[in-house]
Amino acid sequence: MKEILLLKLGELVLKGLNRRVFEDTLLKNLRRRLSPLGRFDLRARQSTIVITPLSEDVDMDEAADRVGRVFGIATYSRAGVAKKNMESILETGKTYLAPVLEAARTFKVEAKRADKTFPLKSPQICEEMGGFLLEQFPHLSVDVHHPDVTVYVEVRDFGAYVHGNPVRGAGGIPVGTGGKAAVLISGGIDSPVAAWQMARRGLELTAVHFASPPYTSERAEQKVVDLLEQVGQWSGRIRMFTMPFAHIQEEIRDKCPEELFTLLMRRFMMRIAERVARREGCEALITGESLGQVASQTLQAICCTDAVVSMPVFRPLIGSDKADIVATARRIGTFEISIEPYEDCCTVFTPKHPRTHPHLQALEEAELALDCEALIDESFENARVRLIGGPAQGKEGSL
Ligand code: ATP
Ligand code: MG
Repeated sequence: MKEILLLKLGELVLKGLNRRVFEDTLLKNLRRRLSPLGRFDLRARQSTIVITPLSEDVDMDEAADRVGRVFGIATYSRAGVAKKNMESILETGKTYLAPVLEAARTFKVEAKRADKTFPLKSPQICEEMGGFLLEQFPHLSVDVHHPDVTVYVEVRDFGAYVHGNPVRGAGGIPVGTGGKAAVLISGGIDSPVAAWQMARRGLELTAVHFASPPYTSERAEQKVVDLLEQVGQWSGRIRMFTMPFAHIQEEIRDKCPEELFTLLMRRFMMRIAERVARREGCEALITGESLGQVASQTLQAICCTDAVVSMPVFRPLIGSDKADIVATARRIGTFEISIEPYEDCCTVFTPKHPRTHPHLQALEEAELALDCEALIDESFENARVRLIGGPAQGKEGSL
């Protein structure tokens, strides 16, 4: 039987005049995500997108899975396609929904008649379908309040469809409608979740990762690539910049007070990330910080790291508990990768007693011992860039 995907749009329904832009971006994102699976026809009408496979052997499980990771969609359903007459609609309901109806005990029918030329009105469609299904599946009973399955019949301009309970979509707003931001990504649990949350608010992502070979390994960097590939299944393509960081860390270790090490390091991260961001046309930075989680995430410490950049810094996890962050990480598929035991540059040379209530002036004075500009330039000279989630997946180049 012919099968399609019916998508209900999320918040973008509310966006008034911008709605067109949102819808076009969403369609573009969907096309890009589905194109490796075959050819599809996409149509947007009345807060619904209908996706019809045009190639023969499209993997609809995979298509549904991909659609479930596109931001801007509230719910989606796989639906059986019927001819626009009642006989075909009833037959489609019976055969297409047989597996779910056999597993259910109660059901109800809802009809949407967007094509006003269809001879039966919605209540009549419901009545006919309800009666027919009760005959065909005698173990079922009707429950209009809390049914196991709601059978939806949608009669639209370009076809009639039957489907069961919709599946929750990724929510949020389409990536690319909110501009672009650079996420500081580590191999930890938090920053991939932060990246995902901001992509869900419509931001396109660029990623900046600090690596400290020989103190950190190739494998540690590969872990970050793996994390971004997972995030990229939701956000779309990501350009990842790997910035060498060991020399900067050695200089701080050798020339600055030990208890300021972490904060001085974080100030370098922010400066470098902002410079990458500007080159890439990004208008904000994103970090996975959460207030009070570690010494460098106290309010005073955050003030000191923010002082070196002028772009807004989004910290979507600032008010989240670790347990909530872990729950999201599991949902988006990054958790299992994040807990792989590889080192991060943040764990290199960590001081025994980091300052939790730093003074900006002390940090600025400590930095006088360093040639900050030269160190940053050197990191850029040796930076690497790769595209995650694109046709040239993982291919590396210099900046
Ligand atoms: P995460 O789980 O994201 O690693 P964390 O709790 O370990 O977070 P920190 O190590 O203090 O926290 O890092 C705070 C934030 O700084 C991270 O969320 C990330 O945005 C950024 N960061 C840390 N290490 C790196 C790195 N190696 N490269 C890029 N950004 C980093
Ligand atoms: Mg970390």
